[in-house]
Amino acid sequence: MLILGIETSCDETAAAVVARDADGRGRILSNVVHSQLEDHARFGGVVPEIAARAHVEALDGIVARALAEAGIGFADLDGVAATAGPGLIGGVLVGLMSAKGIALVHGLPLVAVNHLEGHALTARLTDGVEFPYLLLLVSGGHTQFVAVEGLGRYRRLGTTIDDALGEAFDKTAKLLGLAYPGGPAVERAARAGDANRFALPRPLLGRDSLDFSLSGLKTAVRQAAQAAAPLTDRDVADVAAAFQATVAEIVAIKARRALAVFTKQTGVTAPVLVVAGGVAANQAIGTALRAAAAAVGARLVVPPAGLCTDNGAMIAWAGAERLAAGLVDGLDAPARARWPLDADAVPKLGSGQ
Ligand code: ATP
Ligand code: MG
Ligand code: FE
Repeated sequence: MLILGIETSCDETAAAVVARDADGRGRILSNVVHSQLEDHARFGGVVPEIAARAHVEALDGIVARALAEAGIGFADLDGVAATAGPGLIGGVLVGLMSAKGIALVHGLPLVAVNHLEGHALTARLTDGVEFPYLLLLVSGGHTQFVAVEGLGRYRRLGTTIDDALGEAFDKTAKLLGLAYPGGPAVERAARAGDANRFALPRPLLGRDSLDFSLSGLKTAVRQAAQAAAPLTDRDVADVAAAFQATVAEIVAIKARRALAVFTKQTGVTAPVLVVAGGVAANQAIGTALRAAAAAVGARLVVPPAGLCTDNGAMIAWAGAERLAAGLVDGLDAPARARWPLDADAVPKLGSGQ
């Protein structure tokens, strides 16, 4: 089956065509991402109103390109999927309404996809990972461990009690005068830095906690930056390196704990740990997680960086999985600013596959 996927929940206008074969394997036929970076850069963050307008202007052209690059037309599609939340509501509305129009005009089933489910299922598209697996979702708005037990069956094991990890990267970048978006800029700066010059706190919230707290770390980064001001390139590199090494260590420790909990709960002794969301593109965190997984006999799967950050292929794939399971949405499907992955709002299936 061929699915068109549309993603407009934040600052990427994206569309993709993904094929799902009868055996459940996926193939990306096209994946077009138009970043609005330049529209938001001078504000140091995403401006919702500007984002929504930019989606309106770009989306039709992006969808046309996704179909053209896949070498197909609307008539060849078996369904259309769009992010229905969570995200900036103006942008979500633009993508979802566009998908509804396409569904109506071309007589196609509509799938209203939870953006987080898109991130969560990407590893099944890229690596054919089978249920159940442990997901570490680390993005601009979310930081959580989720037991992925089947399609629509997500159980949250831990989450952040304050900032998301991507948000912490973005705020650290801002403090250091680095370009937006912060994650890639901090990673680049950290390469030349000495991670040991500044000692930062490692809030672990007790021996067994799978929750994260990153706001204290943010304060410590600000104090280190203020103490070293005016910042030389060396200072920036050292603070960036200390921050990145600290979060990598925290994430690795929590991942080991989460894998132990997952194994205890599911009985799976050599589990797969999947990392998803924009921060999964970070190589230092990837290296720390690989070691943590190996230490307990688990396998780490990290999709390619371009499929970790927001894209249309992940939405098309989640749509394909749902459609194959007979889960279709009506043209009255609502756009949601908030939509937890483990909420009942995600229809549950009976089987684990
Ligand atoms: P959500 O998925 O929670 O709604 P989002 O869609 O905005 O949020 P993503 O697009 O998945 O988030 O990821 C963007 C985040 O990933 C940003 O905070 C960005 O700084 C961070 N990020 C991207 N690349 C890297 C990197 N190499 N290292 C660290 N963080 C990164
Ligand atoms: Mg984004
Ligand atoms: Fe995202």
